[in-house]
Amino acid sequence: MEVWTKYCCGKMMYVTVFSSVILLVIGLAIGLSVNNFKGSDALDSAPLIDGHNDLPFNIYEILNNNLDEFDFTKNLTDDKLWGKKACKSCFTDLPRLRKGKIGAQFWVAYVPCSSQYMDAVQLTMRQIDVIKRLVVKYSNDMQFVTEAKGIEEAWKNKKIGSMIGVEGGHSIDSSLAVLRLYYELGARYMTLTHSCNTPWADASTVNNGSVHNLTEFGEAVVHEMNRLGMLVDLSHVSHNVMRRVLSITKAPVIFSHSSVFSICKIYRNVPDDVLNMVKNNNGVVMVNFYSSFVNCNSGRNATMQDVIDHINYIRKLIGPDHVGIGADYDGVTSVPQGLEDVSKYPDLFDRLYESNVEPRWTKEDLEKLAGRNLIRVFKAVEGVRDSLAKTEHPRQDIINAKDISEDQKAINMKPGLCYTAKEWDGIKSTNKTSQ
Ligand SMILES: [Zn+2]
Repeated sequence: MEVWTKYCCGKMMYVTVFSSVILLVIGLAIGLSVNNFKGSDALDSAPLIDGHNDLPFNIYEILNNNLDEFDFTKNLTDDKLWGKKACKSCFTDLPRLRKGKIGAQFWVAYVPCSSQYMDAVQLTMRQIDVIKRLVVKYSNDMQFVTEAKGIEEAWKNKKIGSMIGVEGGHSIDSSLAVLRLYYELGARYMTLTHSCNTPWADASTVNNGSVHNLTEFGEAVVHEMNRLGMLVDLSHVSHNVMRRVLSITKAPVIFSHSSVFSICKIYRNVPDDVLNMVKNNNGVVMVNFYSSFVNCNSGRNATMQDVIDHINYIRKLIGPDHVGIGADYDGVTSVPQGLEDVSKYPDLFDRLYESNVEPRWTKEDLEKLAGRNLIRVFKAVEGVRDSLAKTEHPRQDIINAKDISEDQKAINMKPGLCYTAKEWDGIKSTNKTSQ
């Protein structure tokens, strides 16, 4: 008995001491990992998705889309064509995207409003083409994505999920057929306007006093996008168009690159009543970093804190489920101190986690901000597409000719005329074969 007891107690003590040591080690490990958690660690547990990058337009402007002359694998910070000194709107390359822990990116097929009623469709196709060629050329780092689940697949493959957004309704030339074909080519959002009105939707430049607001044809565009499973992007539209679309859309919407109007009264930003509508719609506002949109009239340079103020404002007003990131790199010429290029996203997430705002940012909320909110919206849009597939067919609406001629008159064009593009003037021909 004694022997047994002695043996028993000795063994138990050994087990107890051993277990205590193990528990201590585990406890310390958990404690250390909790204490060591940095906000940017959330970018290891959820893909960071940026809603808007205009690199494709820079490739057009600088290289006429000749990818033979573009080395995306190089850090271009001091490059003679792409560096800070040569190009005020260049912030992007693969090394810095990797440092920035980007998981997925909407690359923007943007063509200027000056191409409206001219060659906007052809030029948009050209920009869709260059995005697709870029992804193929850099397939070690990039993966083309057209579905919500593809974002996480690419991220698990350690590739940058690469999606296409078309920026500006002028790109469809008032044709639902063109819209449908952009979708077939892989475009997954369309911003309803850029800085010009289309004949069916007003841009933010009308400053809240609508010209057309959203016309009957504009409603058809939104409903066709719902049917296709294409995200409706309300950045750039007038505040009244935001309200109108939110009252008729069957699916959640996005703002791919917009900030808060209450903080910065620029009509590109989103007013509070619309933010509340976005909450009810289950959509997401992806915050733009552009200095002039996050810091107005202060007489000082914009900083990372300004961007944080916009993110926190949205989170406080409508919750952490409706805010995301849409930095607008390469589409702007000035970005805040601390967010100088695409390598800086992790610093933003670190700072958010460290900041003293109440409620504090949790890992889960940072993951939502990073990308989970956009994925949720994307999946919901696909869900609406699938449910409508049983009852709806491709729409055959044709825009009212009067709407087009009035819009042409408003921009001093002769109604009915389709102008020839002038973009070929001054462009040298090349015999090089491009990828
Ligand atoms: Zn834009």
